[in-house]
Amino acid sequence: MKLDILAFGAHPDDVELGCSGTIAKEISLGKKVGIIDLTRGELGTRGSAEIRDREAQEAAKILGVSVRENLGFRDGFFVNDEFHQLEIIKMIRKYQPEIILCNAIEDRHIDHGKGSKLVSDACFLSGLIKIETQLEGVIQKAWRPKVVYHYIQWKNIEPDFAVDITGFIDTKMESVLAYGTQFYDPNSKEPVTPITSKNFLDSIKYRAQDLGRLIGVEYAEGFTVERYLAVNSLGDLI
Ligand SMILES: [Zn+2]
Repeated sequence: MKLDILAFGAHPDDVELGCSGTIAKEISLGKKVGIIDLTRGELGTRGSAEIRDREAQEAAKILGVSVRENLGFRDGFFVNDEFHQLEIIKMIRKYQPEIILCNAIEDRHIDHGKGSKLVSDACFLSGLIKIETQLEGVIQKAWRPKVVYHYIQWKNIEPDFAVDITGFIDTKMESVLAYGTQFYDPNSKEPVTPITSKNFLDSIKYRAQDLGRLIGVEYAEGFTVERYLAVNSLGDLI
């Protein structure tokens, strides 16, 4: 299946927190979007890998993505090497997206920066025809996405551009809250962590609101780029 946009996250919920408003909007505009989680988030303090699998599928349904797969890398310990790059290349060649969304370039959780560089490197390597990959016994064609954009996570990284997600903030928050074990729940008996605080949950909406304020809309999500931003015409900017 050919997709327009493929979003990668080191953990299930990274994509929802970072760019689900943008994904929901692009889907409403007719784009086909998929999500690939690198790990099952098995080291998360709350919940379990099995519960997070279910939460991730629920969030995928809320967003309306065409596919969601999990590569089963080791949470906390995956590395940027040939094995992991090839697994990601197989996904890029399978879905042939023009646009890749991936983790923040640097963050509090070490998997975010690692996942960011791993996916970015795989995007480049995926375009080299002499790297041979097979999926279900079939040799895959080389494919290099046109652009790689990094969403913003825990740290307040300054975005290079922002997407107006006005009208999609409720879908974003609903997809985040599909991860019932991960975020603020006053009735939970499990240990408290930085991301289970009410402050963190509030900050997701507030950041979108604040970024929206700065670009003159209600809500926005920010991204950083790897090369100069390019537009067809000045009218493309809002
Ligand atoms: Zn994460």
